[in-house]
Amino acid sequence: MSSAPKQRKFEGWAAMDSNAIKGEMKWTEYRPKEFFDDDVELEIQYCGICGSDLHTMSDGWGSTKGMYPQVVGHEIVGKVVRVGKDVKHLKEGDIAGVGAQCDSCMECVNCKNGEENYCSKGQTGTYCGKFRRTAKGSKSYGGYANYWRGPAHFTIPIPDNLDPAEAAPMMCGGVTVYTPLKQYGAGTTAKSVGVVGLGGLGHFAVLFATAMGADVTAITHSHKKTEDAKKLGAKQVIVTGDDIKAAFKGYRRSLDLIIVSSNAPNMPFNAYLSLLRPHGHLVIVGAPEEGTIPNVSPFNLIGSNVHISGSAIGSVKGIAECLKFAGDHNIKAWVKRYTMKDANEAVEAA
Ligand SMILES: [Zn+2]
Ligand SMILES: [Zn+2]
Repeated sequence: MSSAPKQRKFEGWAAMDSNAIKGEMKWTEYRPKEFFDDDVELEIQYCGICGSDLHTMSDGWGSTKGMYPQVVGHEIVGKVVRVGKDVKHLKEGDIAGVGAQCDSCMECVNCKNGEENYCSKGQTGTYCGKFRRTAKGSKSYGGYANYWRGPAHFTIPIPDNLDPAEAAPMMCGGVTVYTPLKQYGAGTTAKSVGVVGLGGLGHFAVLFATAMGADVTAITHSHKKTEDAKKLGAKQVIVTGDDIKAAFKGYRRSLDLIIVSSNAPNMPFNAYLSLLRPHGHLVIVGAPEEGTIPNVSPFNLIGSNVHISGSAIGSVKGIAECLKFAGDHNIKAWVKRYTMKDANEAVEAA
């Protein structure tokens, strides 16, 4: 039988403590969760480096204490090499991916409505998490590794027309911006879209919003990213520099939707809100290591009926939709490739 149990040796780049972020991960054998009938195993081909990997290794969010050693990486793509007997949508040899979430309760109203990312009992992160549905208490391990094992429900086939290496960073970074762009009508009801920050998330936001037919305004702190923003498809670029008031002059009420992908502390939200047309949305997707939303004036909200919200990764269905959209629109992530053995070098450069 194709799914006969095989004893694979699971090894990955483990963060032993917060020094891992300085390029001190160690190649280590670890024990994955017990294999259940609804699980699969992937032989990992690609894994993106997400900002969350770095925040987790450094314990910047305060969630890693007691969870070392930790194998991070949640933009995983690989070949399906083992399939539990209850799995219907994948077979051995398929190319599939896993994003930032690898399990949820599968029973609550949100899970039943296909919004596993908002599971009422909380999601199991692909790393630095604990399984609660099967293999209760087992730690989850991510994709800077040779193999990945976990629930097939969260393992999504990669479309044939999408390069698996391009698909990897879309599993978290891509879908994190694709989801709110879709939700708030980029290219349809939201013709003018602003993107704050041009890192991993921001570059996807410009690519996807442009492909959805929106006019994109990139908002960046320095001139360094201006050319990149234009190459990605931005129609205009606002460089905020040290005088945001001056930079935003002439742009008041010019945007329908703003995706804030930066995770800098103390962002100038009042200034961003001034860019929104009435009924517009400002959606936060970047999570800073410290701080709250600073001093937003209620008048800026009341005066133009604008909304501030947040959005977390994407649902299983949302990831599949995002990958299909990327394949159909020939979206190319800007990726720099490293071999897995050079993971420490890649993390230091990130
Ligand atoms: Zn991520
Ligand atoms: Zn749930």
